[in-house]
Amino acid sequence: MRLLNQDRVRRVLESMYNKGRVPNTILFWGPSGVGKTVAALDFGKGLLCRKGVMWGCGECESCRVYESIADRILKGEWDEIKYYGESQSGRKIFLYLKGEHPDFIFLIPDGHVIKIDQVRAVKEFAWEKPVLSPAKLIIVEGADLLNPQAGDAFLKSLEEPPYDTFFILTAVNIKNILPTIISRSFVIEFGPLDFESFREITGIDDKEMYELSGGSVSRLNKLREKASVREMVNKFLEGDASTVFSCIQKIGSYNEDDVVLFFDLLEESIVGKMSTNVEMLERVIDVIDETRKDIPKGVNVTLAIAYIKTIIGG
Ligand SMILES: [Zn+2]
Repeated sequence: MRLLNQDRVRRVLESMYNKGRVPNTILFWGPSGVGKTVAALDFGKGLLCRKGVMWGCGECESCRVYESIADRILKGEWDEIKYYGESQSGRKIFLYLKGEHPDFIFLIPDGHVIKIDQVRAVKEFAWEKPVLSPAKLIIVEGADLLNPQAGDAFLKSLEEPPYDTFFILTAVNIKNILPTIISRSFVIEFGPLDFESFREITGIDDKEMYELSGGSVSRLNKLREKASVREMVNKFLEGDASTVFSCIQKIGSYNEDDVVLFFDLLEESIVGKMSTNVEMLERVIDVIDETRKDIPKGVNVTLAIAYIKTIIGG
C-alpha cells in the first residue's frame, strides 16, 4: 500500500474497511500529484480482492489481473485499455479504461470533460453482477470535470447504487462538483506531500524545488517541463546554425501545450532582448501571435519558427 505520508487518509480507510463499513461512494480531493489516484487504485484492490484482504492479498486472481491494469493506468499506457462504445446516434465514442478485470472500470475525461455518454455507460456497468470479485469498482478520475448534464446523470447512479458497487471519485477543485454529489459521498481530503515522501518519489533532495512545487509531483513535472522549454528558447536564440536546426526539429514534435509555452517564453525573451529594434520586434510578435492562434488548426509550427529565425537573423 503506497499512501506515503497521507497517514490520516490511511487511518480513515483502514478503519472503514476493518469495520466492514465502506461507503458506496468515496471522494478523494486535494491538489494534483499528492497520491489520490494511487490511493484509489490501492484501496480499490482490497475492495475487489477475493480473499477480502485490506489493500489486496496480491495473490488471488482478482488481485493479479487488477495489479497489471493499475500499473498500466499509473504509467499512462492507456491505448490498449481504452474501451469504446456507440453513442445514441451510432457514433464511435470513447467511454472509459477497462482491462481484463471484469468488475473494474476507470473513468477519465474524454478530452477535457466527462461526457454524458460516458456516464450512461458507467451506469450500465454499475448494474451488472460482479463476475470475478465480491464487488464492482468504478474509479472516476476528475469528478470535477463532469459537464453539467453528465453530473446530473451521474448523480442518478449515486442515488441508488447497487449495494455491491463502489465508486471512488478523485477531484482537484471540489467547488466544481455538484453539491448533491458531494453530499452523497464520503469526502476525504488529501494534503500536500511532506518532504520525505516527495524525495522518495522524485529522487529530488532539494528543499527549494520541494517548496516551489508545493509538495505536488505533478506541479514539479510542470516546472521541469517549463525549465526544459526555456532552455530550448535560449538555444534557439543564441545557438549556432546546427543547434538552431535541431531545436526547430524538436519543437516540431512538441505537444500543443508545449508549443504554446515555447511561444510564450520566446515572446518574453525577445521583448527583453530586442527592445531597441522596435520594427523587427513588431514583426516577430505578429508572427508569434498568428502562429499561436492557429496552433489548434494544425499550423506548421516548424515553418513558422524557421521564419521567425530569419527575421531576427543569426
Ligand atoms: Zn486478492
